[in-house]
Amino acid sequence: MGAAPLMLCSAALAASIAARQDAGMFAEPPEELTEAQVVEIGAELRALRDELSAAFTDGAEHAKPVDLDSPIGRVSRIDAIQMQQMAKESQYRLRDRLIAVKAAIERLEDDDYGFCIVCDDPIGYARLKVAPESVACIRCKTLRERDG
Ligand SMILES: [Zn+2]
Repeated sequence: MGAAPLMLCSAALAASIAARQDAGMFAEPPEELTEAQVVEIGAELRALRDELSAAFTDGAEHAKPVDLDSPIGRVSRIDAIQMQQMAKESQYRLRDRLIAVKAAIERLEDDDYGFCIVCDDPIGYARLKVAPESVACIRCKTLRERDG
């Protein structure tokens, strides 16, 4: 009689472990990319590189230092400096991603693409599809973020 709640409890525990396995925490490493997937993600990486480098070139204009001698009002000058600051930060982010994307293209050309730099397991299609410049699998990335 008294055993029923316990069974319920372990069923709930099993369900929660299964859910975590689904989330990839304890799952087997993902499959290696197929040839077709490498070609597909390679094309996306190159498109992304072109897009990022175009955005970087566009943004360079806005990120230029504000000319403090230019004849604009004080408030507009503060605005201009803030805008320039934001543009500069967005340039940094663009540049970092562009570097990561170019490095991914190099790995692709060296036939060394899609493996985690930490554990050497395949990173997996699902993750690379979202972030093709990824260098670590989701498990290692999660661990690293948790360890700070
Ligand atoms: Zn890993």
